[in-house]
Amino acid sequence: MSQRPAGGAAILNLYNFPMETLTPKTNFIREIIDADLASGKFEGCVHTRFPPEPNGYLHIGHAKSIILNSGIARDYKGKFNLRFDDTNPSKEEQEYVDSIIEDVKWLGGDFEDRLLFASDYFQAMYDWAMELVKKGKAYVCDLSADEMRGYRGTPSEPGKDSPFRGRTIEENVNLFERMKNGEFPDGSRTLRAKIDMAHPNLNLRDPAMYRILHAEHHRQGNKWCVYPMYDWAHGLEDSIEKITHSICTVEFENHRPLYDWFLDALGIYHPQQLEFARLNLSNTVLSKRKLLELVRDGHVAGWDDPRMPTISGFRRRGYTASSIRAFCDEIGVAKFNSIIDIWVLENAIRNELNAAAPRVMAVLKPLKIVIDNYPEGLVEEMDAVNNPGDEAAGTRKVPFSRELYIEQDDFKEVPPKKFFRMTPGQEVRLRAAYIIKCESVVKDAAGNITEVRCTYDPATRGGDAPDGRKIKGTIHWVSARHAVAAKVRLYDALFTKRNPDDVEEGHDYKENMNPGSLEVIEKAYCEPSLKSARPGERFQFERLGYFFVDPKDSAPGAPVFNRTVTLKDTWAKIEQKPQG
Ligand code: ATP
Ligand code: MG
Repeated sequence: MSQRPAGGAAILNLYNFPMETLTPKTNFIREIIDADLASGKFEGCVHTRFPPEPNGYLHIGHAKSIILNSGIARDYKGKFNLRFDDTNPSKEEQEYVDSIIEDVKWLGGDFEDRLLFASDYFQAMYDWAMELVKKGKAYVCDLSADEMRGYRGTPSEPGKDSPFRGRTIEENVNLFERMKNGEFPDGSRTLRAKIDMAHPNLNLRDPAMYRILHAEHHRQGNKWCVYPMYDWAHGLEDSIEKITHSICTVEFENHRPLYDWFLDALGIYHPQQLEFARLNLSNTVLSKRKLLELVRDGHVAGWDDPRMPTISGFRRRGYTASSIRAFCDEIGVAKFNSIIDIWVLENAIRNELNAAAPRVMAVLKPLKIVIDNYPEGLVEEMDAVNNPGDEAAGTRKVPFSRELYIEQDDFKEVPPKKFFRMTPGQEVRLRAAYIIKCESVVKDAAGNITEVRCTYDPATRGGDAPDGRKIKGTIHWVSARHAVAAKVRLYDALFTKRNPDDVEEGHDYKENMNPGSLEVIEKAYCEPSLKSARPGERFQFERLGYFFVDPKDSAPGAPVFNRTVTLKDTWAKIEQKPQG
């Protein structure tokens, strides 16, 4: 399958994650902002926000929203808020708040001192609700949630008025106050907007504004036992913060008339809502409910399992923030939903690491070779190039000796056609060392190859033959005596299907999980320079891919390597084509 290069190569600093200077592509949202600035709307200000609900870890779809919103604020010299939409007390936890702050900062979302919580506006929201009650625009309703649904109608049929719609203003003021004071049980009453039960947009058929819930809130404690509904709260939050462009995903397009109704009824500041298509990524799921289920039920090792599409998962896998920004720039911002192939994201990090990651050698599945004509006890320090694309990266010394490890896959006793690696009687080049030739194999009683005996050509130090003879294959190796053992983890897609949700009736997306998504190699052999690899460093293991030193599981002198991405696109193996 053909590889598509990602746009704008980013400059990588291995230890920090700079805001590299990608020039963002324009998009329809930026065009609207340009027009607003030109017409003097919002007095030339641009103020965006990212409003997560703290009920899970952020994923790559959220990254798109953060990068879009904070990038606009940065480029238009405006402001960007991080605002927790913490209006639902039962699902929220401090762990999520902390992880979200870390992820937004890591992605370069600069909210300065504007770390905000919607729960801080509860009093203002309550006062505004009371204002609508007093204007006769909201009423207390005693229908249960089920009954309310029954009265709501359908897109083709109007709803029916609630029997409580005609309550007097005095009665509503009294009941709403008593709801707030905790006099009624959970679910017994709601406060509803008095709009139109026959409205063609179902969102405007007297939507609930408040529900009764005797629950402790992570910031407000037990102060409140009425909690605002999302649709009531959301527009108010943007209004309070004087957000100019309230950017959200397309599912909210038909909620916009309701937000407008509330703001108009109150006569308060009006942001402009703009909707863009949410990001869907192939071979994974981006629903918080499903991600939570994968974590809670132990299908993955946690929110930051490197197979997860969470920002913390990508970070632990070795992705950089700049590669995620490059990916978002590459895919752009559209109005229509689609599924982006995961290899587009993989290309973004591959491009970056190809330019910047130092090359090293490691053998994942070792086969011992002995060079019979190499003096026993001799160790030569070979000069290996750190990055062929970057002369300034220089060279390093790699010890060479009589006994080495190579990959099992690089040896075939009976070679297939065009096998240019090691096979009896054929010369092969050891990267940065010598040309060697397999002379014989040693097997155990069961017939398994235990070692390969070779000879080397001493005139080929560095890997080139002075007589110019062509050697087609080059393989990597490590000196057995000097090798450093390390744990290495290889990852594959979490789901084998492009769209894991594409299942037959009665089946579950989890049936599409890839049983081979994680392969752990307990004892790989690495060149000795890797003994001092520090958590957070990145390398290219020659011919094997790009690897990241796991920040949690590595110990001094004992790095654990996570494969970030393979050297080439390996997606040909996995289902690619859109279904049906
Ligand atoms: P929930 O169902 O819990 O509301 P959510 O994914 O919408 O899930 P939020 O915390 O409400 O989670 O999302 C915060 C912001 O991230 C919202 O403004 C939302 O529009 C945006 N967002 C969420 N998922 C995506 C996605 N896949 N692509 C782009 N933006 C997204
Ligand atoms: Mg949401």
